[in-house]
Parts: sequence; C-alpha cells; structure tokens
Amino acid sequence: MDSIRNLYNIGHGPSSSHAIGPERICKEILKNYEGDYYKVILYGSLSLTGVGHLTDKIIKTVLGNVDIEFSNDQHYDHPNTMDIFIYKNNALIGQERYFSIGGGAILRKGDELKEKPHIYPHQSFQEIKDYCKANQWALHDYVYHFEGDAIKTYLAEVWKVMEDAIDLGLHTEGFLPGELKVRRKAKSLLYNQKSKVSIELRLVSAYAYAVSEVNASGGLVVTAPTCGSSGILPSVLYYLKDIYKYNDKIIINALATAGIIGNLVKHNGSISGAEAGCQAEVGTACSMAAGAYAAIENGDLDVIEYAAEIALEHHLGLTCDPIMGYVQIPCIERNAVAAHRAINAGELAQLLISTSLISFDTIVATMKETGNDLLASYRETSAGGLAKKYKK
Ligand code: SF4
Repeated sequence: MDSIRNLYNIGHGPSSSHAIGPERICKEILKNYEGDYYKVILYGSLSLTGVGHLTDKIIKTVLGNVDIEFSNDQHYDHPNTMDIFIYKNNALIGQERYFSIGGGAILRKGDELKEKPHIYPHQSFQEIKDYCKANQWALHDYVYHFEGDAIKTYLAEVWKVMEDAIDLGLHTEGFLPGELKVRRKAKSLLYNQKSKVSIELRLVSAYAYAVSEVNASGGLVVTAPTCGSSGILPSVLYYLKDIYKYNDKIIINALATAGIIGNLVKHNGSISGAEAGCQAEVGTACSMAAGAYAAIENGDLDVIEYAAEIALEHHLGLTCDPIMGYVQIPCIERNAVAAHRAINAGELAQLLISTSLISFDTIVATMKETGNDLLASYRETSAGGLAKKYKK
C-alpha cells in the first residue's frame, strides 16, 4: 500500500474523481506539453455527470483554450476516462488517455503495469493487526513507523483544512450553486435548539452538512476518502474534540488510524462511486470514522476492526445516483446519516466485540464484488435511482 497522503488529498470540491482528478490530469498535461489549444473528450461517468460535478469548469480553468466533448461512446477502459489532444500552431503534437480512478488519484494509460511505491509491507487488516499486536503498537504507531514523523505534520494540515471547512460551512447561508436550488442547512442545524433531538444528532449533523456544503460549492476540503464523502470523518472527530475536549494529538492519531482503514479499502476494494457505487465512498468514509471513533474511545485493535467492519457492512449495495449530477442530493444528507452510523458502529463494536464473526478484510472483498455486480446506472452516471425518479 502507498502513503495515506494519497488518500487524504486536499483540494476543491465537489468531486475528487470529477474535479480533483481531472484538474491533476490537466496539470500533468501542461507539465509535459507546450500546447496552445486542447481538445478533451470525457467518457462514462465523467461525461454523464461532468457538468453537475463541475468537471468542465475545472478543465477550462487549468487548460484555458480548450474544447470539451461529452461523449456517448460506450467503448472506454475505465468508468472515468478522459482523452486529451494537444495542439500547437494548429498541429497535433500529442494525445493522451487518462483515468480518474477515485479519491483524486489519476492513472495514465500505459502506466497501469508500473510498480507503485509500497510504503507499507502489509496488504490486509489481519496482517497489520498481527504485526501491531506483536509489537504492542496502536494503528497510529504503525503509520508513523512506516511513513515517518513527516506524516504527522501532513495530518495536522489535513485536520486544519477539515476544521476550516466546518467553520466556513457553519457561517454560510443561502443556496448551493446549481439548478436544484438546495438551501444550505449547516448553520440552521447548529442553532436549532427548539426540537427535542439530541445534542449529538444536531451537532454531528451540522458539522457533516457544513463540510458537505463547502464541498458542493467547490470549496476546499479533504478527500476522506473522496470529496462526496468528505463530511463524515471530520464531523465525528470535530464532535469528539468539541464535546469531550480531545486534543489535536489524539485527533491526528485517529486520522492516522482512519487513513489505514481507508487505504485498505482503496487497495483491496474501491473508493470510487463510478467503480462501485456509493458504498465505496460513503461506506468507506463511515468505516474510517467508525474505526477512528473506536480508536479514541477504546483503542483495542479488535474493536477498531469490528467498528470499521460494521460500518462498511451496513452500506453494502448503496448506489450512487446524484440528482442532475450535483453532489448535493442524496450526498449531503447521506454524509450526516453516515456520521451517526459511524458513532453507532464504534459503540456497538465495544458492546459486541466478543460476538464478532466477519473480518474487515472479508467485508472489503464483499464490497468490491457487490460493486462489480451493480448496474452502471447506479455507479455515478445519474441514470438510475433518485436521479431518474426525481422530477423538478
Ligand atoms: S451518491 Fe455517494 S458516491 Fe455518488 S456522488 Fe453522492 S456521495 Fe458520491
């Protein structure tokens, strides 16, 4: 597995695979070519939901003089495929095919077979758990051992961006961009003390909405593991810090723990809605947050594993069907619901650890297989589910 830096990407929303990935692709093109005009063809999910996900906007911002085609051609190598033709003085000087493979990661066609740098020697939760137990380490010790102390500085930066997004979201009112005219709700959730709902429900929801609304409006967030699911982990950690006064060192350790959980799903399953549906995005984020919660509240490796497993298990089969391609409905509300599920999973795992039967590695493999079985209309194409049924 590679560094958790490549899981926690800092970038602008609303979508890691549809905004951050294409932005990186365009920047790589500019690094490698000196063109004066570009033609970009988007395929699959990038084509079907690219406008709602602001893919065209970010490509124009980076490349400048560019024409973009949203292709209906079904012959592509990956659900998020992008062709770029580079011209100079009206002559074609280059042509590249790239894939946006989830969480902001990109891959150039032809580079698939190149060996990626492995920072971690283990490939499964079981291997990592055994190694940690043998060394009497917590999961964050494992991360710091293989990544070095520099990762702590990066995780502090990650946490700062997460906190800033919550702060910004809680102080912004009005409507989100786009045709859906979705009203921002984070601030009203924070201050709505009239109802009898618990403080936990109100605050965790407010924090999750805050980040998700910043993301939906193209603001700066951290992929955890994606932009669409970026509200879940910060809202749980912010709540723990806010109410129980955990310090930043504990929060950063929890981010390291969550990072290993997300990394395992990324490498053994998928964190891409276009590949495996929303179970891969919100399910993984919930699993990361549940593991982080259990790490802070309990610390036992088996409990952390069980919490992460419960959280992912109960997202199996969750489809991706964003209305009109905007990362707003169902995404924002779903972040809040998943944040509460993460806390529930973290607590349930502590109560039921002696009865656990399913390993985290098993649930990741199940999620991957379920994702392969999902119809394309439920994999970030806005062609099925709510996106199909919703009428304005
Ligand atoms: S439905 Fe889930 S996977 Fe799809 S865009 Fe929304 S958050 Fe991402």
